[in-house]
Amino acid sequence: MSDHAITGACLCGAVRYELAGPFGQLTHCHCSVCRKHHGAPFASFVASPLKGFHYLAGEHHVGRYDSSATWYRPFCLTCGSVLPTRMPGHEVIVSPAGGLKGDLGVLPGQHMFVASKAPWYEITDDLPQYAGYPPGLFGPAAGSREPEPASPGCTGGSCVCGKVAFEYEDAPLRMLNCHCSRCRRARSAAHTTNLFVALDKFRFRHGEELVRDFPLPGARYFGVAFCSACGSDVPRLSRERNVAVIPAGCLDSDPGMRPTAHIFVGSKAAWFDITGDLPQFQEMPA
Ligand SMILES: [Zn+2]
Ligand SMILES: [Zn+2]
Ligand SMILES: [Zn+2]
Repeated sequence: MSDHAITGACLCGAVRYELAGPFGQLTHCHCSVCRKHHGAPFASFVASPLKGFHYLAGEHHVGRYDSSATWYRPFCLTCGSVLPTRMPGHEVIVSPAGGLKGDLGVLPGQHMFVASKAPWYEITDDLPQYAGYPPGLFGPAAGSREPEPASPGCTGGSCVCGKVAFEYEDAPLRMLNCHCSRCRRARSAAHTTNLFVALDKFRFRHGEELVRDFPLPGARYFGVAFCSACGSDVPRLSRERNVAVIPAGCLDSDPGMRPTAHIFVGSKAAWFDITGDLPQFQEMPA
């Protein structure tokens, strides 16, 4: 347990907030709603007292998606980053660790909802794993939705609310776990897993008009695309590179590919240990 105050922010910086401890251990959640909302292999949350939470800036800039009758998912209306939410029925705020700055003073302690984890993500650490909520932690059911099938021969995906859906043909070009600070903030997660697909193999099935694009100011290529109705990260079309960058968390089926490396591990989250034997690169390999 740690009780110092820390700050957090979305990728674009419009929304900033402060949290005061005591902080519980970090929990990695593999449920399909978290994976889609973050666009990441899993989300990592820290719980702290509601009374220690307040916005420093941009509270009017927070959108929300009601993923169940009691559980809502806040996000930045400009950049789509996931923001802290109140645990229903408790004086507790639950914050995505990927958005926090500085040392949390706590480490990951468990995985939950591993029964619905992504087929392409292998858990390689020794932390306890729970099929659903861990003992002593409880909340609403994840509220997942039956995904609509992709066209024959295609791999498909969608946002949490289902208004945006996409698919691509053939095998992706590559699949990488990225630990750079931009990806961590964009996905509000420990790291992202992105698929790269040739632009002419990719299409939105519906909802493209709801996709909001946020090119990060000052960045050559980096940006994020998200569903403006629910805040889920969705594929971003990078026309200058001729690829669609797909947050693997929003896939509805197995892409038949697995991540081949961890990149930008030189800027990984201090609280996250990389385990397993995938190759690691300090930055982008040549
Ligand atoms: Zn933002
Ligand atoms: Zn979850
Ligand atoms: Zn949506």
